[in-house]
Amino acid sequence: MTEELFRADAYLRECTATVVASSADGIELERTVFYPEGGGQPGDRGMLRSTDGTTFAIVDTRKGEDGRLLHLPAADAALPTPGDEVTAIIDWDYRYRHMRTHTALHLMCALVPYPVTGGSISQDKGRLDFDMAEGVDKEALEAALNALVIADHPVGYRWITDAEMAANMALVRTMSVKPPMGQGRVRLVDVDGVDLQPCGGTHVACTGEIGHVRLGKVEKKGRQNRRINLHLD
Ligand SMILES: [Zn+2]
Repeated sequence: MTEELFRADAYLRECTATVVASSADGIELERTVFYPEGGGQPGDRGMLRSTDGTTFAIVDTRKGEDGRLLHLPAADAALPTPGDEVTAIIDWDYRYRHMRTHTALHLMCALVPYPVTGGSISQDKGRLDFDMAEGVDKEALEAALNALVIADHPVGYRWITDAEMAANMALVRTMSVKPPMGQGRVRLVDVDGVDLQPCGGTHVACTGEIGHVRLGKVEKKGRQNRRINLHLD
């Protein structure tokens, strides 16, 4: 299995690695800084650079059905050879925006006390769907979000065992995304004093890095569902 360096440090922009497997369906590395699509967060893009300077564009990163982490090459592109040493380099601007949006959604989750039924993250906007019948006071929610940004809460990680996770399922806020159990331990994301929940995504180190946020439309998606859209400024 690929060592996932972004789990411990979301700020790593590159790493060296040996190519394990390589085909048009995806390139596998022994370790990587590329985040694979999951939990509403898009997969990373960027490039692999071989020791002779040849570069291979990576257009997306996915988990295969068997859990293998696949760096997807552009269509008809040349491929590195298994055994090659490469430097894996992510498109940092693209990833960092996902980190900011993703962390902003944790703040929203903390401020809207209803179960989350879905969500999505993109470059400069994100959304969460809540299992709630009433609307929200948009102005108050936007002000509360920006207050949490300005307070610059640190964001940290804690690991708990699968058994501890099973005994604390109330920590799970997103009904549509199961916590990644089965590997013996689960990572909790702790926005200090604000939000604590299992999450495998990438986050900024302090909420101040999110910057000012703006709420977009609050959409009614069925009788028991409200979709709240958020934009980075
Ligand atoms: Zn998260």
